[in-house]
Amino acid sequence: MRNQYELPVKGTLILLLFLALMLPGSLFAQSINFYYAAPTNTMVNAFGAANVSGGFASGFRGILVGAGNVVKFKQIASANMLKTYEDLQAGTALRKHVDKLLKIADGKVDVYYILLDDRNGLGANSGIFVTDTHNGKKISWPVAWVSPAGGGRYKGYVNLSEESSNLMKALPGGWKAWESVVLHETNHTQYVGDKTKWGSIHITYGGDKSHWTSEFLGDQELAFEEGIGTFFGHVRNDPEGAKGEATFFSRTDERYALESWSVLAPNLYRVPHKEKTRTPPTPPATPGGRYAVRYYKWKDVPGFYILFSESTSTGFHLYFWKHVNGNKDQAYDMIIKSANAMWKDRKKRYLAYAVNRLALQMEAFAATADGQAAKAAGKLTSSMYPFALLDLLTHFGMSDEEYKKEYERNYPDKHPQAFTKYWQHRNPVKQLVKADLDASPIRFEKAVSSVHQYFQKQETILAAP
Ligand SMILES: [Zn+2]
Repeated sequence: MRNQYELPVKGTLILLLFLALMLPGSLFAQSINFYYAAPTNTMVNAFGAANVSGGFASGFRGILVGAGNVVKFKQIASANMLKTYEDLQAGTALRKHVDKLLKIADGKVDVYYILLDDRNGLGANSGIFVTDTHNGKKISWPVAWVSPAGGGRYKGYVNLSEESSNLMKALPGGWKAWESVVLHETNHTQYVGDKTKWGSIHITYGGDKSHWTSEFLGDQELAFEEGIGTFFGHVRNDPEGAKGEATFFSRTDERYALESWSVLAPNLYRVPHKEKTRTPPTPPATPGGRYAVRYYKWKDVPGFYILFSESTSTGFHLYFWKHVNGNKDQAYDMIIKSANAMWKDRKKRYLAYAVNRLALQMEAFAATADGQAAKAAGKLTSSMYPFALLDLLTHFGMSDEEYKKEYERNYPDKHPQAFTKYWQHRNPVKQLVKADLDASPIRFEKAVSSVHQYFQKQETILAAP
């Protein structure tokens, strides 16, 4: 879903949050909080005019849900927003995922979920909400943003709404598909500071100010963040989320999209593509002449540019999680730790840097007694696997030199042995899966499994000294 960190926050909302901090500490010591917002009449009738605040959208009032009003909140909340609230309480399955995600930013972000009853639609002034029109109704689209709160802490906000949850729960996986959106948005609250090298996410997303998973974005950093968020959602909505990815990665047709107004468009102009003229976004982000979307086949796109699609980040983390050490919990924790090395610094949010961070953790584990036992049992995965996985996702389309350059660009403070050893395995692995990648549909998951098996062989295992 969309990421919206530069939403103008209205003065009244800032005041409201300030007042919240003045209230007794016990309620606000926790790092997960909820606002409920609904049409003004509903809110005033339920809580009293003095207890609700504006600053959400015109015609709406909101309240911070706490011990003093939670009973009333539960009586009047719209069905999906109440279920979402209950879903996010301590101890639930969804909350356990959320708690893990909050470790990405070292627990420095206090998260506020804004639960909106938008059943009647939003008006002309939709305030802090980013809207989309469905069946003639203006509804709030899931978005998240994060801002500094002083003292080295941050506040992350996630907009969730009744109507958007209805749309999402109609997707494969049902309610879990909605929960996967909640996790995707929560992930956005963890990456602070600049989100993109372009200064504005609207430039990164392109002329339509929005993005879709198969699109090439204007930089790798936001594509990384979007894609890993979708992966976290897929873990919750398993196996439906993974099924969707498998279908995507098996496609031989023009599965990637690029807007003609994107900053990346000139780089891929000479690459074979199909083009469809589209109506330019209104108002246009930039006056850009004719507006079209170009569609590309996987193998036609130079390997390096595949890194600009968030689907690559999703696939990379998904197929790491699915296979590494035959231990999904351990693989998930490694991914959280890898993301933890990136939360403060946009310049680290690259898949090649994730390769480095994950390979180092794998070599450290291989050196432990548990790691040695897993190796003896044939269950350990070589630290060269993440190198090969990114290679596979980019159809081995970078030269050795390009791949090494991409990896070193992120200035890792330490190199795994895999960085030295991978290159002698690169061609054998490429040959191993050539027929799978040449097939139509592409046998992508089979290729991933073959590569993983190759890197389970004992002689490929590398352990930290
Ligand atoms: Zn997003």
